[in-house]
Amino acid sequence: MSAERDSCTAMRERIHELFDGDDPLTLPADVVQHLEICPACAQMHADLARLRDLLRHAPAEPLPARTLDAVWAATTGTRRTRRRSSRPR
Ligand SMILES: [Zn+2]
Repeated sequence: MSAERDSCTAMRERIHELFDGDDPLTLPADVVQHLEICPACAQMHADLARLRDLLRHAPAEPLPARTLDAVWAATTGTRRTRRRSSRPR
């Protein structure tokens, strides 16, 4: 059903936003519920979590945004246009 697909797309956007934020480990209840019933989104979340973990332990290199963009493009088929410029570091 397309409604299910729409819900996944919206959910993935929200998950990406969470990972763009300061506290990606705190998931809203509705996101948690979706991850429990949707293996595809749960897998994406796991991939992002692992990626984030890798980056956190890696030397400080300025590539997270680019890497997240790649994941974003691969998982949603869209490009992020928000918050391109102001990313304090
Ligand atoms: Zn889903």
